Amino acid sequence: MKITDILKSKATLSFEVFPPKEGQPMEPLLEALRQLYRLRPDFISCTYGAGGTNKGRNMEICEAIIRDGHVPVSHFTCIGGTKEEIRDVMGGYVSIGIENVLALRGDLPAGWAGTGGDFAHADELLAFLERERPELCKGVAGYPEKHLQAASLEEDIGHLKSKQDKGAAFITTQICHDLEAFSRYLERIRRAGVTIPVVAGIMPVLYREGTIRMTLSNGCSIPRELAEIIGRHDGRPEDFKKAGKEYTARQIQRFKETGAAGLHIYTMNKHEDITEVLAMAGVYAYPSLNSANSAQNYQADA
Ligand code: FAD
Repeated sequence: MKITDILKSKATLSFEVFPPKEGQPMEPLLEALRQLYRLRPDFISCTYGAGGTNKGRNMEICEAIIRDGHVPVSHFTCIGGTKEEIRDVMGGYVSIGIENVLALRGDLPAGWAGTGGDFAHADELLAFLERERPELCKGVAGYPEKHLQAASLEEDIGHLKSKQDKGAAFITTQICHDLEAFSRYLERIRRAGVTIPVVAGIMPVLYREGTIRMTLSNGCSIPRELAEIIGRHDGRPEDFKKAGKEYTARQIQRFKETGAAGLHIYTMNKHEDITEVLAMAGVYAYPSLNSANSAQNYQADA
């Protein structure tokens, strides 16, 4: 099933998982997936190793998701990829029944000036995929507080528009704790002619150091409410996690009001914490409603 078709009928709830490192067992992730299915996600995306790592495992996971009767989105980056290689990977995806990809440039490895492959940016990858595999539904990344390397948000949105023009059908956003910035972003991209659905990426706040590292390394701001939690619970991981879960549940409630077409939870493969946070937020699954952008879409399944 294509993500765009799902988004036409409802606001979505979806999860991101990542493959285990080389040599690590797959079973813990497969078990996490089984637990996450109980929350009735509309789709599950699986990340892709940008520098050539774990690529096969990404496909293995998407295959497992299909086998289990769920909809996968495979992330894909063009770092180091030639047209020939990308053609092969896409052929492999289609042959196992993958219908959705998140088309990315990928983070440039340290010291690299470019991707080292045939495409410099995600929009070029999009144009290629659209020509080669028009049947695939293609999503792209969006950055509510701008991509770290972009000179300005305006410039970044211009490139987002180019991704739409070259075939992107939906957007999943980077971490953004600042809800006002997220709402302003939606307004600005719509004014710039970006009309495709925007699924809000939400990073649960579970670990103090990880939260700080992930937020700052992506150039995102830390609102006062989150700064207080970080400041208050230094050296007390259990207290931090409790406060972080409550904060994330409040954020999920607030995201419902922004006009996002769906919520995409970066699970970090942690099914117990995610289940608890979604229960606290009163969200297990969204009922189907007519408009994909209505705040009413986000009512808990009673
Ligand atoms: P681009 O769209 O190419 O943008 C990168 C930068 O170049 C931006 O500053 C943009 O403004 C600029 N730009 C874009 N187009 C042009 C152009 N035509 N000319 C000049 N400048 C341009 N990384 C992984 O390695 N694996 C993953 O699985 C993964 N999943 C992700 C999922 C989500 C939802 C998000 C938000 C990010 C993910 N990333 C992943 C990280 C992503 O690869 C990085 O953020 C990367 O640095 C940019 O990728 P992009 O597709 O946005 O690139």
